[in-house]
Amino acid sequence: MLKVPEILQSNDYPPPKTTASSVPVKQLVDQFGRQVDYIRLSITDRCDFRCVYCMGEDMTFLPREEVLTLEECARLIKAFVNLGVTKVRITGGEPLVRKNALWLFEEVGKLEQLDELVLTTNGSQLVKHAAALRKAGVKRINISLDSLDAARFKTITRIGELDKVLSGIQAAKTAGFENIKLNTVLMRGVNDDETSSLVDFAIAQKLDISFIEEMPLGEVDHTRASTFVSNADTLKKLQSEYSLIASTENTGGPARYWRVPNSATKIGFISPHSHNFCESCNRVRITCKGELYLCLGQDDKVDLMPLLRNHPEDDQPLIDAIINSMAIKPKGHDFDLRRAEPAVIRFMSHTGG
Ligand code: SAM
Ligand code: SF4
Repeated sequence: MLKVPEILQSNDYPPPKTTASSVPVKQLVDQFGRQVDYIRLSITDRCDFRCVYCMGEDMTFLPREEVLTLEECARLIKAFVNLGVTKVRITGGEPLVRKNALWLFEEVGKLEQLDELVLTTNGSQLVKHAAALRKAGVKRINISLDSLDAARFKTITRIGELDKVLSGIQAAKTAGFENIKLNTVLMRGVNDDETSSLVDFAIAQKLDISFIEEMPLGEVDHTRASTFVSNADTLKKLQSEYSLIASTENTGGPARYWRVPNSATKIGFISPHSHNFCESCNRVRITCKGELYLCLGQDDKVDLMPLLRNHPEDDQPLIDAIINSMAIKPKGHDFDLRRAEPAVIRFMSHTGG
């Protein structure tokens, strides 16, 4: 009988293509020449908040067997990293409510080829987990914060407690994360009068802050067009109060940054409605069900879960599917606020922010 070479028995087969310095060759290039080196993985659809723009009041969450196990998440991330991905963002739902989530951060934190392991969280569990996450190798954290008023915070999140999040921010600072960034979704008549107080808070706490335009995802009956606040308006308002300096920083994503003079704070504006960033898009998203979405605003996807589950010892089908998915990455998205229905009805908690 033919002796199978040891390398073919390894879970790592096929070995990643490497350069002389053993850095994996970037193999994820789409039909428009864009290189995908950034993945965002949602590890749960569950959350301890019910933000009005993100979830319905009564959510039915996925049964456990329909969600990737943490081991499957780790295997998936390793496959992407072997194909040249250098940045991984773990998101949700609320990633830190997933039992044993820390194990995944520790596992991924060990991957030498990975430059950046980052996290998006609502901050509610950071008092408990910040130090361990930092130790696991998480470099940066984005924390969502839409209001500094406790009653309003509760209205927006339906069940969240502001105090817990503020303590979480403090814990993240103490743990020594670089560039902690606040994420704020502004809604007209809800929290758009807090733009400056949130920026002042960021400056005082030496944090960055990004304003995210509300996206047409999720509930069909949410009247987004009436609460929508454009970043152009937010920027204009802030420019009348601060001498902002345009930053040349470009993350390949939908964010544009400005610096606040004499402070450590950067202000970002994330405008998913703008098409400007699609040409430089370097990312794909994976839901907690293992669906690989090639674009936040389009339906093109590949189901990776069956490949993980049907081939527990063989990564090749998974690797082939990921490489082949590049052929269907759309040129750009198709959000349009004037439409009666969201272009893509997909909860952010499902896709990951
Ligand atoms: N639970 C974590 C959190 O809130 O940061 C991570 C997941 S959450 C889906 C990621 C980001 O998506 C948050 O900053 C949230 O504000 C944002 N988000 C959710 N739904 C949104 C929507 N419809 N439009 C714009 N941003 C949204
Ligand atoms: Fe939960 Fe984050 Fe969605 Fe709010 S935005 S409901 S915190 S997943």
